[in-house]
Order: sequence, then structure tokens, then C-alpha cells
Amino acid sequence: MYNHIQHYINGQWVDSTENEMIDVINPATEEKIGEISSGTKEDLDKAVQAARDAFPSFSQTTKEERADLLDRIADEYEKRKDKFIEVIMEELGSPVNFTTEVQYPMGLNHFRATAKLLRDFDFTEERENSFIQKDAIGVAGLITPWNFPTNQASTKLASAFAAGSTVVLKPSTETPFAAVLLTEVFEAAGLPKGVFNLVNGTGSTIGDGISSHPDIDFVSFTGSGGVGTKIMENAAQDIKKVSLELGGKSPIVVLDDADVDYAAKTAISHIAGNTGQVCTAGTRAIVPESMHDDFIQAIKNHISEYPVGDPKDKSTFTGPQISEDQWKTVQDYIQTGIDSEATLVTGGTGKPEGLETGYYSKLTVFTNVKPDDTIAQEEIFGPVLSVITYKDLDEAIDVANGTIYGLAGYVVGNDPDNLTKTARSLRSGRIVVNNEPADFTAPFGGFQQSGIGREWGDYGIEEFLEPKTIVGLPS
Ligand code: NAD
Repeated sequence: MYNHIQHYINGQWVDSTENEMIDVINPATEEKIGEISSGTKEDLDKAVQAARDAFPSFSQTTKEERADLLDRIADEYEKRKDKFIEVIMEELGSPVNFTTEVQYPMGLNHFRATAKLLRDFDFTEERENSFIQKDAIGVAGLITPWNFPTNQASTKLASAFAAGSTVVLKPSTETPFAAVLLTEVFEAAGLPKGVFNLVNGTGSTIGDGISSHPDIDFVSFTGSGGVGTKIMENAAQDIKKVSLELGGKSPIVVLDDADVDYAAKTAISHIAGNTGQVCTAGTRAIVPESMHDDFIQAIKNHISEYPVGDPKDKSTFTGPQISEDQWKTVQDYIQTGIDSEATLVTGGTGKPEGLETGYYSKLTVFTNVKPDDTIAQEEIFGPVLSVITYKDLDEAIDVANGTIYGLAGYVVGNDPDNLTKTARSLRSGRIVVNNEPADFTAPFGGFQQSGIGREWGDYGIEEFLEPKTIVGLPS
């Protein structure tokens, strides 16, 4: 059991003002693995006060001191590799290989990359008759989802600490224990008390409390568009700055000279990785008409290479959905696809054979999907791929750009001109050509309804800063 019924405020674990608990469930077994405290507004007030008290001195530390701190955090994070993997597997149902190769290092990479960039980051600038100084924004409220428990918290925390801001973090109630482990990391790294505060609890109490709190200067949120809207509405009341990392419906544009097996495997890996619960997942494969039949055959040939099953089994590629609610949502979308004029290639509703316990879905692929169909427009957040055909590249780019989102885009193919034209024409915050690995120093964030603001690296640090112009400063 991972019971953790206290909040971390001003450098120590403290009891909640009330005794209400929230159960945490392992989605692979449907069993309770622990509980957390359902925090109150009073708990949040104490955490915000601790962050406010810590701000004057932390914001005056040097960037070298903060870069050293980030490196110490990364060292302590690495020492707890096995613990992180175990916790993320249990609370998210994330398969052991995916957890080890993707979930675990993502959090670590943010601390390392930010430490390196911070050493060269300029907090001052001179131009014309101005001296520009970038000050830490103040107290930041951080709200995170469940699908990458250390990644989303770590990118926000690394940027905040680099900038000299202090924080209150509210993780998702589905995956709260990775944040408890992060707290252990910060203590071991010697983070000054009050710089980091953790309050567990529901979105409607703690999340809402953060976005409307008069003593919080900035809200950095990752999650769904609906909640993002509520946060903006609350933050608007006192003109609080917000950064929103929201959903996506990202395209994979397959060029006509792409290797068809490579393209099909790329598409399957997007819906199978993290069970399709990835904001940047490529869930629309946009394929040349002339390649369609071969592409569908390649999907059928390769889909069994991404087995759904027990997260602890090393041969498992795809685990369960996070919760019964999320499983039902995915099932409804699969039914919507079946009821449309699209063709079901593989998968469908119900649980995969032999996986009756756990919130497992089948890897599901539809073809003959029209660009405006519901399953091609709405974020499903599950293992469902829509295949759409195109006649020429301009049409492919139009289809790719034809949603309310703009978080990521993928291009698969060989011709350098067409790869470049497509990559540069996609209206999204992150474009990946032929599965190039992520660059943790480059900005991450969305166009349109995928969000506002950027995370990762120096762009992430900028979010936690306020530029101040001074004219007439004596030289
Ligand atoms: P969610 O919006 O339901 O919850 C996210 C967080 O917000 C949780 O901590 C939740 O408790 C909190 N919350 C809920 N109601 C709130 C309220 N009224 N005020 C303040 N906070 C509240 O999202 P989720 O289901 O946890 O995550 C899935 C969504 O997150 C998907 O839409 C996905 O695309 C998005 N996401 C985006 C990114 C990105 O970087 N762009 C990354 C991961 C996930």
C-alpha cells in the first residue's frame, strides 16, 4: 500500500485539516493500492503562504546556485530509478518496458536539460536606452494530469526552480504517488523549505482553489481543454497569468515514397504507446490513396507486435486505460466509429480476450475515415487510429491542419523537399520527422486549442519570468 495521507508544506509532511481520503486504484488489477488525503482550501492556503514566504530569498539566489540545485535533483532522481518505475507501473498501469524507457527518463531529462540551459541563460539584456531584467514571477500553482506522472510535474518544476519561482503542486488524484517520490528527491537534494509545496486533492477543490487564489501569481496547467477553460475563467478574475498544455488530435502524414511497413509501425506505436493516452499521439494517419491497401495490410501484419496485457510482463507493449471512466469513453468512441461509414480494420469494442480484469481496450484501427468524422476530430485518449486518404500533398496538409488542435504532427517519408514542405506547413507546436527522438532543450506546446504558452528548456523558464524594462539606469 502506498498510503500517503499528508501534504508537504514548508519543508515537512503535515496532516490535512480534514480526514477525508481518496482511493488510488491500479488500473491493471482494479485493486486499491493506497489512498491520499483530499486536501482542503485551508491546506492550500497554508501551502501558498509557505511558498510566498520562501519567495523573497529563493528568487534572489544566483542562477549558478539554482543550476547546481537542478543537477543535484537529477542525481537524486537517478538514485531512485527502481522506485519511480515501480510507482508509475502501479498507479498508471504503465508497462515495464515503456515505464523504464520513456516514463522514467522524461522527468529526469527535464532537470538535466534545464540545468544546462540555465547556466547560459541571460536574466538581463541591454538595448537602446533600456536595461531589461527578468524577475521570477512569484508563486506558481502547478496542476498536472495522470498520463505522464513525472514528466509533466518535472518540466514545470525544473522551469520554476530555474527561474527562482516557488510553487504549489497539485498532481492528479489518479497518479499521486510519483509526486510523493519527487518530494523525497527534492528533500534529499537540499531544496530550501517552502520552495516546493505539495497539496493533494480534487480538481474541484484544490485545482479550482489554485486558479482562483489571490496569492498565486501564475497557473501552469496540463490537462483537458474543458478544465483549461475553467482555469482561464477563474484566473481572469484577478488577471492571473496562465499557461495551458491541453489536448491534441495529431496527424501522421505518410508521404508517397515512405516505406509502408515503417509507416504502419509508426502509426501503431502512436496508439499503442501509453495506451494512446498521450497528448501528442498521432491518431490520424493521412495516407496516399495509392498506398492505402498496402498500408492497411501492413497494419494487419504488424499489430500483433504491440501486445496488450499485464504491465509487469516484459513482452507487453500496451497496458490498460487509467480508469473505468476513461475505458468507457474510449468504448463509446469505438462504437461511434463502428456506427459511422468508416471501416473497422482491427480491434473494436470490449476487452481483449483473457483480459477481463483491468481497464483494457483493444488496439483499434478504422479506415475510410472522413476528415470531419467525430473519430477524426475529437481527442479519444485511447488506442484508436483513424486512417484518412489523400490525393496530393496539399490536400494532405489541409487535412492534417483541419482540427481545432495543434499540439504535434508527424511526417514519414524520404524525399527531402516533401518532408521539409510538409513539416514546415503543419500548424502545430512540435513536428517530428521519421521518428526523430525528442529534444528536451526545444519548446513544447500547442497552437489553437492545444494550449497557450510553452514548456521545456529556456522557453519553459521564460514562462516563470516577468521581463522588467528600466530606462535611465545610471551606468
Ligand atoms: P483533466 O483536465 O481532467 O485533469 C487534469 C488536472 O486538472 C488534474 O490534476 C485534475 O484533478 C485537475 N482539475 C480537474 N478539475 C479542475 C478544476 N475545475 N480546476 C482546476 N483543476 C482541475 O485531464 P486528465 O484527464 O488528467 O488528462 C488528460 C488530458 O490532459 C487530455 O486532454 C490530454 O490531452 C491532456 N494532456 C495534455 C498534455 C500537454 O502537454 N499538452 C500532456 C498530457 C495530457
